[in-house]
Amino acid sequence: MESDAEGFSPDRAFWLLGDQMRTAILRAVWESSEETITFSEIREQIGSPDSGKFNYHLNKLVGHFLSKGDGGYSLTQAGREVVRAVMAGTITKHAEIGPGPIDAQCTECGGTLVVRYDEYGIIECEDCGELVMWNEFPPAGLDTRSAEEFASTFDRWTQVRFGLAMDGICPNCACETTMEVLDRAGESADGIASMHRCENCKYEARVPLFGHVISHPATVSFFYDRGVDVTEMPYWRMRSLAREFNEDVISQNPWTASITMRSDGHALELTLDESLDVVDVEPSE
Ligand SMILES: [Zn+2]
Ligand SMILES: [Zn+2]
Repeated sequence: MESDAEGFSPDRAFWLLGDQMRTAILRAVWESSEETITFSEIREQIGSPDSGKFNYHLNKLVGHFLSKGDGGYSLTQAGREVVRAVMAGTITKHAEIGPGPIDAQCTECGGTLVVRYDEYGIIECEDCGELVMWNEFPPAGLDTRSAEEFASTFDRWTQVRFGLAMDGICPNCACETTMEVLDRAGESADGIASMHRCENCKYEARVPLFGHVISHPATVSFFYDRGVDVTEMPYWRMRSLAREFNEDVISQNPWTASITMRSDGHALELTLDESLDVVDVEPSE
């Protein structure tokens, strides 16, 4: 059967799942309260289709999406992932939320920031259209949440996923991510950023330079001493705080840059190497 996991291509996976009865079978196995489910139980669950046709489709799933043992059928890891993707709504649902205002102002024009969802989570300025934050988010996560609750959930979701990508782990598929430093200081208002990419699933995350220093202990304590807790801060507040930061490229070979933060008449300078790791901390009080 289709048990050659190594030679199993995405094309073949799509082809195998390109039939309603097959996805209904996976769903029936998923919903079973027992670890395994028998042939006749699955068939009954999906409305007792023609036995020959059912048998044909069931057997196509065995090997990669289902495993067959003495007690009946159970989902493989790949089978569980498929059903999970469906349950998260990424594949099947079209959901929308907002636009709803959030308690923050636009750093460009002072207008109101709003959150909305339209295939992606989006935080932007209602007045000038400035895009503050944009990311993937599974539609199932919208079901029970108001726009405001969605904004804070979307923020946590994104920060955790960006954190993984910055640690070299793809938040979608756990493969290794690569990092490229985008040094556009002087060329564009975007400044220095990093791009984290997964070759396997094409996940991408673009992280501004301040994202690499904001959770550094020196930064956390610098702001904490001045009454600001950056660990509890949503991304859009960090972004407006970071507008006051100074970025400088110190040298090209090896590439090093510094970021200087100011608060309450004090300054803190962090130096980063080409991996965007902090290599020096200089309090200038
Ligand atoms: Zn604006
Ligand atoms: Zn990936």
